[in-house]
Amino acid sequence: MSNKPPEVIITDQCDAIQDAIEKVFPQTCHIWRLQSVMKKMPENLSGFSGFQSIENAFSTVVHNSLTQTVFENNWSKIIDKFGLHGRSAWLNMLFCNRHKWVPTYVKNNFCAGMFCTQNSESIGSLFHGYINSTTTLDEFLDQYNKTIVGIDCKETDANWKSSHEVVPCVTHYGIEKKFQKVYTNKMFEEFQEQLKGKMYCYPTLLKQEGSVYIFKVTQDVKIREQQCSLDFTVWWDRDDCDGRCKCTCRHFEFRGILCSHIITVLALLKVKKVPSKYVLQRWRKDMIRRHGTITNWSYNEMVDSPVARRFDLLCKSFYEVAEKAVVSNELLMLVLDSVEELKRKVDAHTAQNS
Ligand SMILES: [Zn+2]
Repeated sequence: MSNKPPEVIITDQCDAIQDAIEKVFPQTCHIWRLQSVMKKMPENLSGFSGFQSIENAFSTVVHNSLTQTVFENNWSKIIDKFGLHGRSAWLNMLFCNRHKWVPTYVKNNFCAGMFCTQNSESIGSLFHGYINSTTTLDEFLDQYNKTIVGIDCKETDANWKSSHEVVPCVTHYGIEKKFQKVYTNKMFEEFQEQLKGKMYCYPTLLKQEGSVYIFKVTQDVKIREQQCSLDFTVWWDRDDCDGRCKCTCRHFEFRGILCSHIITVLALLKVKKVPSKYVLQRWRKDMIRRHGTITNWSYNEMVDSPVARRFDLLCKSFYEVAEKAVVSNELLMLVLDSVEELKRKVDAHTAQNS
Protein backbone atom coordinates (compact mmCIF):
# COMPACT_ATOMS: atom_id res chain seq x y z
CA MET A 1 0.00 0.00 0.00
CA SER A 2 3.03 2.27 -0.51
CA ASN A 3 3.22 3.00 3.23
CA LYS A 4 -0.14 4.76 3.00
CA PRO A 5 -3.00 3.46 5.15
CA PRO A 6 -6.31 2.87 3.37
CA GLU A 7 -8.91 5.59 3.86
CA VAL A 8 -11.74 3.09 4.29
CA ILE A 9 -11.90 -0.60 5.22
CA ILE A 10 -15.15 -2.55 4.90
CA THR A 11 -15.48 -5.78 6.87
CA ASP A 12 -18.13 -7.89 8.54
CA GLN A 13 -18.94 -6.82 12.07
CA CYS A 14 -16.39 -8.65 14.22
CA ASP A 15 -14.75 -7.51 17.47
CA ALA A 16 -11.37 -9.13 16.70
CA ILE A 17 -11.11 -7.44 13.28
CA GLN A 18 -12.21 -4.14 14.78
CA ASP A 19 -9.49 -4.29 17.44
CA ALA A 20 -6.86 -5.16 14.82
CA ILE A 21 -7.87 -2.30 12.51
CA GLU A 22 -7.92 0.24 15.36
CA LYS A 23 -4.42 -0.86 16.31
CA VAL A 24 -2.83 -1.08 12.84
CA PHE A 25 -4.76 1.64 10.98
CA PRO A 26 -5.95 4.10 13.66
CA GLN A 27 -6.70 6.81 11.06
CA THR A 28 -8.68 4.53 8.75
CA CYS A 29 -12.46 4.68 8.64
CA HIS A 30 -13.76 1.20 9.48
CA ILE A 31 -17.17 0.35 8.03
CA TRP A 32 -19.24 -2.75 8.73
CA ARG A 33 -20.82 -4.50 5.78
CA LEU A 34 -24.53 -3.71 6.02
CA GLN A 35 -25.66 -7.21 5.10
CA SER A 36 -23.51 -8.71 7.86
CA VAL A 37 -25.36 -6.55 10.40
CA MET A 38 -28.86 -7.16 9.00
CA LYS A 39 -28.24 -10.92 8.80
CA LYS A 40 -27.74 -11.00 12.58
CA MET A 41 -31.25 -9.66 13.27
CA PRO A 42 -32.95 -13.07 13.57
CA GLU A 43 -30.38 -14.49 16.01
CA ASN A 44 -30.56 -11.37 18.19
CA LEU A 45 -34.20 -10.34 18.00
CA SER A 46 -36.27 -13.41 17.11
CA GLY A 47 -37.12 -13.88 20.81
CA PHE A 48 -39.26 -10.72 20.80
CA SER A 49 -42.93 -11.03 19.89
CA GLY A 50 -43.75 -9.52 16.52
CA PHE A 51 -40.20 -10.16 15.35
CA GLN A 52 -41.11 -9.96 11.66
CA SER A 53 -42.65 -6.50 12.10
CA ILE A 54 -39.63 -5.38 14.13
CA GLU A 55 -37.23 -6.61 11.45
CA ASN A 56 -39.22 -4.90 8.67
CA ALA A 57 -39.35 -1.65 10.64
CA PHE A 58 -35.59 -1.59 11.30
CA SER A 59 -34.82 -2.52 7.71
CA THR A 60 -37.00 0.33 6.38
CA VAL A 61 -35.45 2.87 8.73
CA VAL A 62 -31.89 1.78 7.97
CA HIS A 63 -32.34 1.84 4.18
CA ASN A 64 -34.56 4.88 3.81
CA SER A 65 -33.40 7.45 6.37
CA LEU A 66 -31.86 10.20 4.27
CA THR A 67 -30.38 12.17 7.16
CA GLN A 68 -28.81 11.27 10.46
CA THR A 69 -31.50 13.18 12.37
CA VAL A 70 -34.27 11.30 10.59
CA PHE A 71 -32.53 7.98 11.31
CA GLU A 72 -32.14 8.75 15.01
CA ASN A 73 -35.78 9.89 15.34
CA ASN A 74 -37.10 6.85 13.49
CA TRP A 75 -34.89 4.47 15.47
CA SER A 76 -36.29 5.90 18.74
CA LYS A 77 -39.84 5.52 17.43
CA ILE A 78 -39.28 1.81 16.72
CA ILE A 79 -37.72 1.27 20.14
CA ASP A 80 -40.80 2.95 21.70
CA LYS A 81 -43.36 1.23 19.48
CA PHE A 82 -42.09 -2.30 20.18
CA GLY A 83 -41.11 -1.69 23.81
CA LEU A 84 -37.43 -2.48 23.24
CA HIS A 85 -35.92 0.00 25.70
CA GLY A 86 -32.96 -1.60 27.50
CA ARG A 87 -34.01 -5.09 26.40
CA SER A 88 -31.35 -5.79 23.79
CA ALA A 89 -27.63 -5.15 24.36
CA TRP A 90 -27.11 -5.93 20.67
CA LEU A 91 -29.44 -3.11 19.57
CA ASN A 92 -27.71 -0.72 21.98
CA MET A 93 -24.34 -1.70 20.53
CA LEU A 94 -25.63 -1.16 16.98
CA PHE A 95 -26.99 2.28 17.80
CA CYS A 96 -23.75 3.33 19.53
CA ASN A 97 -21.83 2.25 16.43
CA ARG A 98 -24.35 3.61 13.88
CA HIS A 99 -21.64 5.66 12.11
CA LYS A 100 -19.99 2.36 11.10
CA TRP A 101 -22.86 0.72 9.23
CA VAL A 102 -25.98 2.88 8.67
CA PRO A 103 -25.97 4.19 5.05
CA THR A 104 -26.81 7.79 5.94
CA TYR A 105 -23.63 7.98 8.08
CA VAL A 106 -21.43 5.82 5.88
CA LYS A 107 -22.26 7.87 2.77
CA ASN A 108 -19.83 10.57 3.87
CA ASN A 109 -17.06 8.23 2.69
CA PHE A 110 -16.25 7.33 -0.90
CA CYS A 111 -16.65 3.56 -1.14
CA ALA A 112 -16.73 3.10 -4.95
CA GLY A 113 -19.67 0.71 -4.68
CA MET A 114 -17.99 -1.68 -2.24
CA PHE A 115 -20.57 -0.92 0.47
CA CYS A 116 -23.82 -2.40 -0.81
CA THR A 117 -27.03 -0.85 0.42
CA GLN A 118 -29.10 -3.60 -1.18
CA ASN A 119 -28.69 -7.37 -1.08
CA SER A 120 -26.01 -8.10 -3.58
CA GLU A 121 -22.66 -9.79 -3.95
CA SER A 122 -19.90 -8.56 -1.71
CA ILE A 123 -16.15 -8.84 -1.89
CA GLY A 124 -16.39 -11.51 0.81
CA SER A 125 -18.23 -13.79 -1.62
CA LEU A 126 -15.10 -13.91 -3.79
CA PHE A 127 -13.45 -16.07 -1.14
CA HIS A 128 -16.54 -18.04 -0.26
CA GLY A 129 -15.73 -21.76 -0.14
CA TYR A 130 -11.94 -21.16 -0.10
CA ILE A 131 -11.34 -19.47 3.23
CA ASN A 132 -12.42 -20.78 6.63
CA SER A 133 -11.26 -20.68 10.24
CA THR A 134 -8.52 -23.27 9.58
CA THR A 135 -7.00 -21.47 6.59
CA THR A 136 -3.38 -20.49 7.22
CA LEU A 137 -1.99 -17.10 6.23
CA ASP A 138 0.12 -18.70 3.48
CA GLU A 139 -2.98 -20.40 2.06
CA PHE A 140 -4.90 -17.15 2.31
CA LEU A 141 -2.22 -15.23 0.38
CA ASP A 142 -2.16 -17.95 -2.27
CA GLN A 143 -5.94 -17.75 -2.64
CA TYR A 144 -5.79 -13.96 -2.61
CA ASN A 145 -3.37 -13.99 -5.55
CA LYS A 146 -5.57 -16.40 -7.51
CA THR A 147 -8.59 -14.20 -6.82
CA ILE A 148 -6.79 -11.05 -7.96
CA VAL A 149 -5.65 -12.76 -11.17
CA GLY A 150 -9.28 -13.82 -11.76
CA ILE A 151 -10.50 -10.24 -11.23
CA ASP A 152 -7.78 -8.99 -13.54
CA CYS A 153 -8.90 -11.36 -16.33
CA LYS A 154 -12.53 -10.27 -15.94
CA GLU A 155 -11.53 -6.60 -16.03
CA THR A 156 -9.37 -7.13 -19.12
CA ASP A 157 -12.39 -8.69 -20.81
CA ALA A 158 -14.67 -5.84 -19.66
CA ASN A 159 -12.12 -3.23 -20.80
CA TRP A 160 -11.95 -4.83 -24.24
CA LYS A 161 -15.74 -4.67 -24.48
CA SER A 162 -15.75 -1.02 -23.34
CA SER A 163 -13.30 -0.17 -26.12
CA HIS A 164 -15.05 -2.16 -28.85
CA GLU A 165 -18.75 -2.16 -27.97
CA VAL A 166 -20.93 0.93 -27.52
CA VAL A 167 -23.88 1.04 -25.14
CA PRO A 168 -26.49 3.19 -26.93
CA CYS A 169 -27.66 6.46 -25.39
CA VAL A 170 -31.25 6.57 -24.15
CA THR A 171 -31.61 10.37 -24.44
CA HIS A 172 -30.26 13.17 -26.60
CA TYR A 173 -28.58 14.97 -23.66
CA GLY A 174 -24.98 16.00 -24.24
CA ILE A 175 -24.18 14.92 -20.68
CA GLU A 176 -25.10 11.34 -21.52
CA LYS A 177 -22.99 11.42 -24.70
CA LYS A 178 -20.00 12.62 -22.68
CA PHE A 179 -20.23 9.70 -20.23
CA GLN A 180 -20.84 7.27 -23.11
CA LYS A 181 -17.60 8.46 -24.69
CA VAL A 182 -15.32 8.34 -21.65
CA TYR A 183 -16.70 5.84 -19.11
CA THR A 184 -16.42 2.06 -19.14
CA ASN A 185 -19.64 0.37 -20.27
CA LYS A 186 -20.44 -0.78 -16.75
CA MET A 187 -20.13 2.68 -15.23
CA PHE A 188 -21.95 4.27 -18.17
CA GLU A 189 -24.83 1.86 -17.59
CA GLU A 190 -24.80 2.86 -13.93
CA PHE A 191 -25.01 6.51 -14.98
CA GLN A 192 -27.90 5.61 -17.30
CA GLU A 193 -29.77 4.06 -14.36
CA GLN A 194 -29.60 7.44 -12.61
CA LEU A 195 -30.58 9.17 -15.85
CA LYS A 196 -33.63 6.92 -16.18
CA GLY A 197 -34.48 7.81 -12.56
CA LYS A 198 -34.94 11.41 -13.76
CA MET A 199 -38.40 10.49 -15.06
CA TYR A 200 -39.53 9.99 -11.45
CA CYS A 201 -38.08 13.32 -10.26
CA TYR A 202 -40.00 16.60 -9.92
CA PRO A 203 -37.88 19.70 -9.24
CA THR A 204 -39.07 22.87 -7.50
CA LEU A 205 -36.88 25.95 -7.14
CA LEU A 206 -36.80 26.80 -3.44
CA LYS A 207 -34.62 29.87 -3.70
CA GLN A 208 -31.85 31.57 -5.63
CA GLU A 209 -29.08 33.42 -3.82
CA GLY A 210 -26.79 35.11 -6.34
CA SER A 211 -25.41 32.37 -8.52
CA VAL A 212 -26.55 29.59 -6.18
CA TYR A 213 -29.80 27.77 -6.93
CA ILE A 214 -31.44 25.57 -4.32
CA PHE A 215 -33.98 23.02 -5.54
CA LYS A 216 -36.26 20.55 -3.85
CA VAL A 217 -36.41 17.39 -5.97
CA THR A 218 -39.27 15.05 -5.14
CA GLN A 219 -38.74 11.50 -6.37
CA ASP A 220 -41.37 8.78 -6.66
CA VAL A 221 -39.83 5.59 -5.29
CA LYS A 222 -40.97 2.07 -4.61
CA ILE A 223 -40.13 0.67 -1.18
CA ARG A 224 -41.15 -2.93 -0.54
CA GLU A 225 -43.84 -2.72 -3.27
CA GLN A 226 -45.18 0.51 -1.73
CA GLN A 227 -45.19 3.72 -3.79
CA CYS A 228 -44.03 6.76 -1.90
CA SER A 229 -42.25 10.08 -2.43
CA LEU A 230 -38.92 11.25 -1.04
CA ASP A 231 -37.63 14.83 -1.01
CA PHE A 232 -34.02 15.73 -1.77
CA THR A 233 -32.30 19.12 -1.81
CA VAL A 234 -29.92 20.02 -4.63
CA TRP A 235 -27.55 23.02 -4.61
CA TRP A 236 -26.11 24.30 -7.89
CA ASP A 237 -23.63 27.18 -8.25
CA ARG A 238 -23.96 28.61 -11.75
CA ASP A 239 -20.74 30.67 -11.54
CA ASP A 240 -18.48 27.98 -10.17
CA CYS A 241 -16.59 26.92 -13.29
CA ASP A 242 -15.84 23.58 -11.65
CA GLY A 243 -19.57 23.09 -11.27
CA ARG A 244 -20.21 22.90 -7.58
CA CYS A 245 -23.36 20.90 -7.06
CA LYS A 246 -24.48 18.87 -4.12
CA CYS A 247 -27.42 16.66 -3.25
CA THR A 248 -28.62 15.50 0.14
CA CYS A 249 -28.62 11.88 -1.10
CA ARG A 250 -24.77 12.08 -1.41
CA HIS A 251 -24.77 9.46 -4.15
CA PHE A 252 -21.87 11.13 -5.96
CA GLU A 253 -19.72 11.42 -2.82
CA PHE A 254 -20.42 7.78 -1.96
CA ARG A 255 -20.55 6.06 -5.37
CA GLY A 256 -18.87 8.47 -7.75
CA ILE A 257 -21.87 8.68 -10.13
CA LEU A 258 -24.15 11.71 -10.46
CA CYS A 259 -27.58 11.07 -8.93
CA SER A 260 -30.97 11.40 -10.65
CA HIS A 261 -31.66 14.55 -8.62
CA ILE A 262 -28.61 16.48 -9.77
CA ILE A 263 -29.17 15.26 -13.36
CA THR A 264 -32.74 16.57 -13.13
CA VAL A 265 -31.51 20.02 -12.06
CA LEU A 266 -28.74 20.10 -14.69
CA ALA A 267 -31.30 19.25 -17.40
CA LEU A 268 -33.74 21.87 -16.12
CA LEU A 269 -31.05 24.57 -16.11
CA LYS A 270 -29.94 23.42 -19.57
CA VAL A 271 -26.38 22.73 -18.44
CA LYS A 272 -24.87 21.08 -21.51
CA LYS A 273 -21.34 20.32 -20.34
CA VAL A 274 -20.52 17.96 -17.48
CA PRO A 275 -18.34 19.80 -14.96
CA SER A 276 -14.93 18.12 -15.00
CA LYS A 277 -14.95 17.20 -11.31
CA TYR A 278 -17.90 14.87 -11.95
CA VAL A 279 -16.01 12.81 -14.53
CA LEU A 280 -13.89 10.56 -12.34
CA GLN A 281 -10.59 9.22 -13.63
CA ARG A 282 -11.21 5.85 -12.01
CA TRP A 283 -14.28 5.12 -14.20
CA ARG A 284 -12.69 6.12 -17.52
CA LYS A 285 -12.23 3.42 -20.15
CA ASP A 286 -8.78 4.78 -21.03
CA MET A 287 -7.59 4.52 -17.43
CA ILE A 288 -4.82 1.98 -16.93
CA ARG A 289 -5.56 -0.22 -13.94
CA ARG A 290 -3.26 -2.51 -12.07
CA HIS A 291 -3.89 -5.12 -9.42
CA GLY A 292 -1.08 -6.06 -7.11
CA THR A 293 -0.66 -9.73 -6.43
CA ILE A 294 1.45 -10.66 -3.44
CA THR A 295 4.68 -12.36 -4.45
CA ASN A 296 5.43 -15.89 -3.57
CA TRP A 297 7.16 -15.25 -0.28
CA SER A 298 5.85 -16.87 2.83
CA TYR A 299 4.02 -14.54 5.21
CA ASN A 300 6.91 -14.21 7.65
CA GLU A 301 9.37 -13.47 4.88
CA MET A 302 7.05 -10.99 3.28
CA VAL A 303 6.40 -8.70 6.24
CA ASP A 304 8.84 -5.81 6.19
CA SER A 305 11.80 -7.92 5.03
CA PRO A 306 14.65 -6.40 2.96
CA VAL A 307 13.57 -8.61 0.06
CA ALA A 308 9.99 -7.32 0.23
CA ARG A 309 11.16 -3.72 0.47
CA ARG A 310 13.49 -4.12 -2.55
CA PHE A 311 10.75 -5.84 -4.53
CA ASP A 312 8.28 -3.07 -3.67
CA LEU A 313 10.77 -0.40 -4.77
CA LEU A 314 11.44 -2.18 -8.06
CA CYS A 315 7.72 -2.59 -8.78
CA LYS A 316 7.12 1.12 -8.20
CA SER A 317 10.00 2.10 -10.49
CA PHE A 318 8.91 -0.25 -13.28
CA TYR A 319 5.32 0.87 -12.96
CA GLU A 320 6.29 4.53 -13.31
CA VAL A 321 8.28 3.73 -16.45
CA ALA A 322 5.40 1.66 -17.87
CA GLU A 323 2.95 4.51 -17.27
CA LYS A 324 5.16 6.95 -19.20
CA ALA A 325 6.07 4.57 -22.02
CA VAL A 326 2.63 3.27 -22.80
CA VAL A 327 1.73 6.30 -24.92
CA SER A 328 3.60 5.24 -28.08
CA ASN A 329 5.16 2.27 -29.86
CA GLU A 330 8.53 4.04 -30.02
CA LEU A 331 8.65 4.43 -26.24
CA LEU A 332 7.41 0.86 -25.81
CA MET A 333 10.28 -0.49 -27.93
CA LEU A 334 12.77 1.76 -26.13
CA VAL A 335 11.69 0.37 -22.77
CA LEU A 336 11.58 -3.26 -23.94
CA ASP A 337 15.11 -2.97 -25.38
CA SER A 338 16.31 -1.41 -22.14
CA VAL A 339 14.69 -4.18 -20.10
CA GLU A 340 16.45 -6.82 -22.24
CA GLU A 341 19.74 -5.00 -21.65
CA LEU A 342 18.99 -4.85 -17.92
CA LYS A 343 18.23 -8.57 -17.83
CA ARG A 344 21.61 -9.31 -19.45
CA LYS A 345 23.38 -7.13 -16.87
CA VAL A 346 21.51 -8.73 -13.95
CA ASP A 347 22.27 -12.25 -15.27
CA ALA A 348 25.94 -11.34 -15.75
CA HIS A 349 26.16 -9.89 -12.25
CA THR A 350 24.44 -12.95 -10.74
CA ALA A 351 26.79 -15.31 -12.62
CA GLN A 352 29.85 -13.36 -11.49
CA ASN A 353 28.84 -13.41 -7.83
CA SER A 354 27.49 -16.94 -7.55
ZN1 LIG B 1 -29.31 13.02 -5.13
